[in-house]
Amino acid sequence: MKLKAGRSSIRGKRAYIPYGRQQIDEEDIREVVRVLLSDYLTTGPKIQEFEEAVAQYTGARYAVAVSSGTAALHIACLAAGIGEGDEIITTPITFAASANCALYCGGRPVFADICPDTYNIDPADIQRKITSRTKALIPVHYTGQPCQMDEIHGIAREHGLVVIEDGAHALGARYRGQRIGGLSDMTCFSFHPVKHITTAEGGMVLTNDEKLYERLRLYRSHGITREEKLLQEDQGPWYYEQLDLGYNYRISDVQCALGISQLKKLPHFLQRRREIARVYDQAFEGQQDIITPYQREECENSYHLYVIQVPAQKRRDIFQKLREDGIGVNVHYIPVYHHPYYQQIGYDGVSCPQAEQLYRGLISLPIHPGLSREEQEYVIECVKRHVSETV
Ligand SMILES: *Cc1c(COP(=O)(O)O)cnc(C)c1O
Repeated sequence: MKLKAGRSSIRGKRAYIPYGRQQIDEEDIREVVRVLLSDYLTTGPKIQEFEEAVAQYTGARYAVAVSSGTAALHIACLAAGIGEGDEIITTPITFAASANCALYCGGRPVFADICPDTYNIDPADIQRKITSRTKALIPVHYTGQPCQMDEIHGIAREHGLVVIEDGAHALGARYRGQRIGGLSDMTCFSFHPVKHITTAEGGMVLTNDEKLYERLRLYRSHGITREEKLLQEDQGPWYYEQLDLGYNYRISDVQCALGISQLKKLPHFLQRRREIARVYDQAFEGQQDIITPYQREECENSYHLYVIQVPAQKRRDIFQKLREDGIGVNVHYIPVYHHPYYQQIGYDGVSCPQAEQLYRGLISLPIHPGLSREEQEYVIECVKRHVSETV
């Protein structure tokens, strides 16, 4: 059998242009096949190798690879000690997992509004939302632009809060020159296929704290350990202990082989994403009815997403027409508290005005390393045409 890395799917004459897509090459395939033929399909040498590679890349001391970004957020909340009645503060403009992780632990997400220019969580509103029950802050580096971490760390220090960064969009992003991953108590990444690198499903928690690292490893695998220094007694070489209630959130060696191989291409992937963003920026600069997010000086965006705002009353039509053109536009995100589940559990009175305003005009455009210049020009042309034609 000859293995060939695929191209994006063709629908009709013009290729459908997805908003995000993995890029897998033959080297990735070879590395995965090598593990499939080895002794370990799961929990073998590739997991630690992947953890060490990501830790080294981001500058964090420890890394725990897990089965998804959502699992990473869940065990991070457990390791932070989030329990019944505890509050965490996060943004409404995120994937639901950034808030769900607190609910898994019996905690309660509280939504702080966003800054109207960067669309990231507003430190001033975090300050306003703090109560005696607040235990952790979960900032999300939306689109890949780091949040205002100095301000967020200042608030955390003042109130004794744990900071868990949701870095799902921000692998390779920098804040004041330092890569996202080693700046806070914990940072979570996702390796879903639309993210910067993929393991199909997968995630990771990074930390510089040895105690947190130990707890994260326990929660990943049933709360069970064989590590001598953690065991309460030693009954023999077969012996292990369950010290807490954990989960099976393990990732496999097969997946980590893909992750290791993908990480080697991350610099290229980032470069492509930034080039694409620059082309969009230039195309939309000064364009009537198209707003792009402000980029802060101290932040280097890794561009998981490229979003624009169009006038709210035109959004639906523009979106529809772009889909008809074969462009996989999307909306990231519906404010989390809008979802029926959140409405049912007491968030029906919640509203963050800036997040509401943003949501009404938001559209995500295609951005991924395999997007060709020609495809991007087509996207730009369609966006400009529909924005100017739609009334
Ligand atoms: C993708 C994503 C997650 C969840 O990651 P999974 O690996 O899909 O579980 C969490 N938060 C944000 C902001 C994401 O984009």
